[in-house]
Amino acid sequence: MPSGRSRRTSSVGSEFGLIRLLQAQAARPDRQVFKGIGDDTAILKTSSDQWTLITTDLLAEGVHFDPATSSYDDIGYRAAIANLSDIAAMGGTPRFMLVAIAIPPTCSTEQIQRLYRGMMQAADPYRVCLVGGDTSASKSGLFLSITLTGIVQPRHALLRSGARVGDRLYVTGTLGDSRAGLDLLTATARAGPAKLRPAYTRFLLARHHRPSARVAEGQWLVKHGLGGAAIDLSDGLTGDLRHLCEESGVGAEVLAGSLPISPACRAYALAHGRDSQQIGLQGGEDYELLFTVPRRKQEQFERLAANTDFCFTCIGSITPKRLGLRLRTEPGTTQPLPATSYEHFLRPS
Ligand code: ADP
Ligand code: MG
Repeated sequence: MPSGRSRRTSSVGSEFGLIRLLQAQAARPDRQVFKGIGDDTAILKTSSDQWTLITTDLLAEGVHFDPATSSYDDIGYRAAIANLSDIAAMGGTPRFMLVAIAIPPTCSTEQIQRLYRGMMQAADPYRVCLVGGDTSASKSGLFLSITLTGIVQPRHALLRSGARVGDRLYVTGTLGDSRAGLDLLTATARAGPAKLRPAYTRFLLARHHRPSARVAEGQWLVKHGLGGAAIDLSDGLTGDLRHLCEESGVGAEVLAGSLPISPACRAYALAHGRDSQQIGLQGGEDYELLFTVPRRKQEQFERLAANTDFCFTCIGSITPKRLGLRLRTEPGTTQPLPATSYEHFLRPS
């Protein structure tokens, strides 16, 4: 979820309505395209023993980041993570990167170098190789666009469309930390009483500035054949679960009490009169994975997962489409899952 605060709406309507319109207008069938628009990456059938994943992400100053509250290193780091996370959501291995930047007159060479330093800090653990890009001047803020390729075994990628009724729904890590960290950077939160332990503040800011891409977790799911569907959490659990369910033609039930919320996020919510569950449901840019495990594989999944360092939490299950997306708050009590998560062009807050 981008960090900007503009309430303006745009004449292009909803982001996803626009993408569908453009898809209908411009997408063409091709024998090498296994998956085009609609998933975390496209999947190209480039050879018989290895398929190519490709994804791109654009970050705009004032919308996705603010140099007044983020260092250039952190902006670069987060930009790389956004792309790495899309490869992770497919269960793939990141490979090659292209970087396009549009630089405003206010930006120095040193700042751009710091941007690249942060980017490569995120990418180097995966031995991603920078192979090109483009450079332009900008008259309205800094723009940064990364294109990342990856590889995956043929037919092994985790798709948004792979969820089936009865599957268990899991997430990696904890939810809402990045949102809480972002809130701590805004004037509203700063104006409130500073009741949060410094260690919690540091943790939440770090989760916002330097999130993790769950590449190893995605690859592990593929290796053991345990994943049904997967998506990475960039817009927030509610919104991304909706995308997964739409692509799979199913509904879902989330158990409110099972959402993994960190002690720091809980303390932040308490100190600022916020509901930590809501932050967990709606907060964006956690870059955790949301995935499903078929019911018949759940036992095997739990057994194998217990021998790893990964943090997986079961947060609900996949239900028939007619039941929609629901939140179970206590035994027997369900309500429709609120539709709010980040949406470009139509900002609720
Ligand atoms: P993510 O959050 O994983 O980056 P998005 O929700 O941004 O994915 O995009 C959903 C799908 O729409 C992806 O397949 C993406 O490649 C595609 N898409 C987004 N914007 C455009 C565009 N302007 N033109 C064509 N395809 C697009
Ligand atoms: Mg994604």
